[in-house]
Amino acid sequence: MNALLVADSVSKKFGNFTALNGVSIAVPKGSIFGLLGPNGAGKTTLIRIINQITMPDTGSVLLDGQPLEQHHISDIGYMPEERGLYKSMKVGEQVLYLAQLKGLSKENANKRAKYWFEKLDIGAWWNKKIQELSKGQAQKIQFVVTVMHNPKLLIFDEPFSGFDPINANLIKDEILQLRDEGATIIFSTHRMESVEEMCDHIALIHKSNKVLDGEITTIKREYKNNTFEVGVEMEE
Ligand code: ADP
Repeated sequence: MNALLVADSVSKKFGNFTALNGVSIAVPKGSIFGLLGPNGAGKTTLIRIINQITMPDTGSVLLDGQPLEQHHISDIGYMPEERGLYKSMKVGEQVLYLAQLKGLSKENANKRAKYWFEKLDIGAWWNKKIQELSKGQAQKIQFVVTVMHNPKLLIFDEPFSGFDPINANLIKDEILQLRDEGATIIFSTHRMESVEEMCDHIALIHKSNKVLDGEITTIKREYKNNTFEVGVEMEE
C-alpha cells in the first residue's frame, strides 16, 4: 500500500487517563480513511496529534515518509469539529488572509476563493462578518478555508455536525469529489452509515484502542459478529 500518513503505536495519557493506547493507522494515498468510534473513543486526540496540536507520549507519525516537524503546517488541512474562525472579521478578508497564511499567493488565493464561493454558491456572504452567519454557514466557510490550498492531507472531524441534512449531503458530495480528484482524506465520525457511504478503509476506535482495521465490507461483517459493545450508530 502506498500510504501518505503512517501513525505507529501512538499513545497519549491525560493525567492517569489513557486517551490513546498504542494506536497505529496507515492512510492510503487518494482515499478516504474513516476513523470510526463512539464519542470519547480517542479519535480527536489522534487527529490533534497528527496536527501537532497535542504531542504523543510515545509512538511516531510520518507524512510522506517524513516526521511531521519537517512539514509545513499547511500540508495538512484540518476542519475541526468546533468553529475556528475570527468572529468579527469579514468572510472574504478572512478567507484570503488564511489562504495566504497557508502559502498561496494573493492571486492564487483570489482565484481559489472565487472557485469555491461559486461552487458552493455562497458569494453573498463575502462581505458579512462570521458572527452574522449561522453555525452551518460558518462551517461552510471553515470547509472552504480547510480545502482551498489543496493540502497533501485533509482531515474532517465530524464534518456534518453543524449542518442540516441538505447541507450535510452537499459537503459529503464535495468531500467525495475531492477524493475522486486525488485528495487523501481522514474522516472521523461516530456513525457507521457515514463511513459506509464515504470510506474506502476504516479503523474502529473503541476506548482508546484500535479494535478493527480494514476495508469497509470486512469491518461491517466483523462488527456484526462482534463480541464487544462499541456503541457506534449503525443502521440495520
Ligand atoms: P472522540 O474524538 O473519539 O470523541 P476524544 O479524543 O475527544 O474522543 O476524547 C477521548 C477522551 O480523552 C475523552 O474521555 C476526553 O474527555 C479525553 N480528553 C481529550 N482531551 C483531553 C485533555 N486535553 N485533557 C483531559 N482529557 C482529555
